[in-house]
Amino acid sequence: MAKRMLSEAEGYDLLREYGVPTPGFEIVTSADAAAKAASAIGFPVVMKIISPQIVHKSDAGGVVVGISGAAEAKKAFTQIVESAIEYNPEAEIKGVIIEEMAKPGLELILGGKTDPAFGKVITFGMGGTLVELMKDVTLRILPISREEIRTMVREINAYPLIAGYRGMKPRDEDALIEIIAGVATFFEENPQVTEFDINPMRLYESGACAVDARVIVDDEYEPIVRKERTFVPPEYFTPRSVAVIGASSDPQKMGYAVLHNLLHFPGQIYPVNNKRTEVQGLKAYPTVTSIPNPVDLAVITVPAVHVPRVMQECGEKKIPLVVVITAGFKEAGEEGKVLEERMLDIARHYNIRIVGPNCLGLIIPPRGLDTTYVHESPEAGSIAFISQSGAIINTVVDWSLKQEIGFSAVFSVGNQSDLDFLDYLRFVEQDKSTKAIILYIEQLTNGREFMEVVSEVAKKKPVVAIKSGSSQKGQKAASSHTGSLSGSYEVYMEAFREAGVIPVRALRGAFEVAELCASPGGYPKGRRAIVITNAGGFAVLSSDYAEMYGLDLIDLPPEILAELNEFLPDYWSHANPLDLLGDASEKRFQQVFDVLARHSDLWDMAFVVGFPNLVLDSERLARQIINFSGKTENLVVGSLLGGECMDAGKKVLKEHQIPNFDDLEQTFKVVGRVVWQRCRAKSIGLP
Ligand code: ADP
Ligand code: MG
Repeated sequence: MAKRMLSEAEGYDLLREYGVPTPGFEIVTSADAAAKAASAIGFPVVMKIISPQIVHKSDAGGVVVGISGAAEAKKAFTQIVESAIEYNPEAEIKGVIIEEMAKPGLELILGGKTDPAFGKVITFGMGGTLVELMKDVTLRILPISREEIRTMVREINAYPLIAGYRGMKPRDEDALIEIIAGVATFFEENPQVTEFDINPMRLYESGACAVDARVIVDDEYEPIVRKERTFVPPEYFTPRSVAVIGASSDPQKMGYAVLHNLLHFPGQIYPVNNKRTEVQGLKAYPTVTSIPNPVDLAVITVPAVHVPRVMQECGEKKIPLVVVITAGFKEAGEEGKVLEERMLDIARHYNIRIVGPNCLGLIIPPRGLDTTYVHESPEAGSIAFISQSGAIINTVVDWSLKQEIGFSAVFSVGNQSDLDFLDYLRFVEQDKSTKAIILYIEQLTNGREFMEVVSEVAKKKPVVAIKSGSSQKGQKAASSHTGSLSGSYEVYMEAFREAGVIPVRALRGAFEVAELCASPGGYPKGRRAIVITNAGGFAVLSSDYAEMYGLDLIDLPPEILAELNEFLPDYWSHANPLDLLGDASEKRFQQVFDVLARHSDLWDMAFVVGFPNLVLDSERLARQIINFSGKTENLVVGSLLGGECMDAGKKVLKEHQIPNFDDLEQTFKVVGRVVWQRCRAKSIGLP
C-alpha cells in the first residue's frame, strides 16, 4: 500500500519539529494504563482512538473531551474502543491517545495537498466541524513568503475574528503566520507527505495549539520533473514553404481540407501523395524527399501507423517543424502511446520540433498560413488564441468571422508531445501583431513552469484564460478536509492570480476581455475611473456599478472643476460622474474631453456613457470618443446605450478599436474584472 495515514501522535511529533505547538500526550493500550497516564498528564484530558482505518475519529465515537479523573479515564478507554469497533469492525485498533486538553480558542484549519499540475499547495481557513459548510478557505501554491502568508490570512471572510471583532480581543496573528510558515516548510521538506490537515488549530490571544493532526504519506510519490526544453525560434512559425503529407483531392479527407485552407498561403505549397501527380490543381510529389526545394514546415495527415516512417523522411529532408494533425496516439491507448514515443524518438534524432499530434495545427492569419481544417480561415487581427481543444477552435473561428474579430495566431496544442503551451506563449509574447492572448486550458502537466513563463508574458501582454473543469465533483473521495475543500480548479485560479492571468468562465467573455485589453490603453494601470455622460439616470447607475466592480470614481480636484465651470452650464453635476445633461452637444463633450486629456495623470480610465437623442447622433459622439482616446494613454471605453440609432456610433468605435459595450453593467463588470485581477497579481504588483 503506497498511501498511508500517520497516527495523530506521529503527526504531532513531525509538526512540532517545525514549530507547531501541540498538546503533550501518551499512548495507552489498556484501561488501567489510561488512568495512570491521564493522572500523569494532569486533568482535564482528552482521549481519542488510534486506528489507521478511522479517519474521522469523532464520527466513530472515538473522541472524549473533558475527562477529569482516573475512573472517568478508565471508563472512557472502554467506551472509545467499543464505539470504534462498532463503527468499523474491520478497524485495527492501535490504542488510545491521551492528550492535554487545550483551552477553547478560535478554531482554524491548516492543510496541504499535492496538486497533479502545480505540486504542493497549502490551505488555510475557518476550521472545526463546520469547515465543509462554511467553505471559508484560501490557498497558496508553495513556496510562499511570510508576506504572502499574511495576505492569505487576511483573505478569509472570518478574518475579523482574528483581528478582533466587536470588542473581542485580537488573536495572535503573528504566531499564526509563524505556524503557517513552519507548516509550509514541513510540507516542502517532506516530499513523501502528499496531504495533511490540522483541524482544528486553536488560535489564542497569545499563541496557538494544534489539537488534531492527520498526515498522509505516499512512499511511491514522485515529484513532477521538469522536462528539458529549448524554445523554438519564432521563425519556425513563419515558414516560406509548406508540404502537406497526405494531401488529397477527396473532399471527405482531412488531407483535402488542410490543403484547401493552405491554398491562400503566399509561399510555396507542396502536396505529397504517393498515388497522384496532381492534387487540387497543384503538382504533387510522391514523398517529401522528392521535393526539389527546401521545406520549412510539413503538415502530416496520414494515418498514425505511417507517421513514424513519414517523420523519418521529414528528417532526411531536414524539415525543422512538423505539424501532426493525425490522431490515434497517446490519447488512444497503449498502442498509440508506443507509436507516439517512436515518432518522438525519430524527431529528436533529426532535431525536428513537433506541433501535436492529435491537433489542428496552427493559423497565422497575418501570414496567410492555415494548417487546420477549420471551415473558413479567420481574419488577421491582434488576438492570439492557444487552445487545448480543437473543436473550440473550430467554433470560435467560425463565430469570429461574423463578430469581426481577427487573430494574430491560433494554436491547437493537441497532445503536446513536444511543443506545448509554453512554446506557443513564448512565440506570441514576442510577436508584434499580438496584443492580447487567450488560453483555453483543460489541464497542465507542468504547472509551476507554466506560472513562471506566463507571469513574464503577462507583464507585457494581457493573458486571459478559460479553465474547464470547475464542476469536477469533489474529485475523488477525499481522505482529508483539505482534499475536499479545494479542488484542482481553485489551484488553477490561484496560479492565474499569482501570474497575472485573467480568468474568465465563458468564451464570449474571454473575447470581450481580450478585445478590451488589446485596445489603446486597455491594460489599465490602476482603478481610478471617470464617467462622462449626458444622462442623469446612467450617472447614478454608473456609480453603483463602479463600486460593485471595484473601480474608484475619483473626486475631481478643484482646478479641474474650475476649468470645467468656465464653459459648462451652471446646472451640470459638478462631480464625477460628469453629467453634461441631456442637451449636451458634440462641442460640450469635446471641451470636457480636452480638459480630462490634459489631466491624464489623475485617472486611469474614462467611461463615456451616451443615450440616443436628437441633439447628438451616435456617430458624432463616437468620433469625439475616438479623438479623446487619441489624446490620452489611458483607457477610454464607450458605452453607447440604445437601439438601432446607436449602431453607426458603435461601428465607428469598432473600426478604431475603441471598446464599447451596449450594456452598462457589463461595461463596468468587464473593466472591473481586468483591473481587479491586475491589482491582485503578485507578479505585476499594482497598488
Ligand atoms: P476528528 O478526527 O473527528 O477530527 P479531533 O481530533 O479533531 O477528531 O477531535 C474532535 C474535536 O475535539 C476537535 O475538533 C476539538 O474541538 C476537540 N479536541 C480534540 N483534541 C483536543 C484537545 N487536545 N484539547 C481540546 N479539545 C480537543
Ligand atoms: Mg479534527
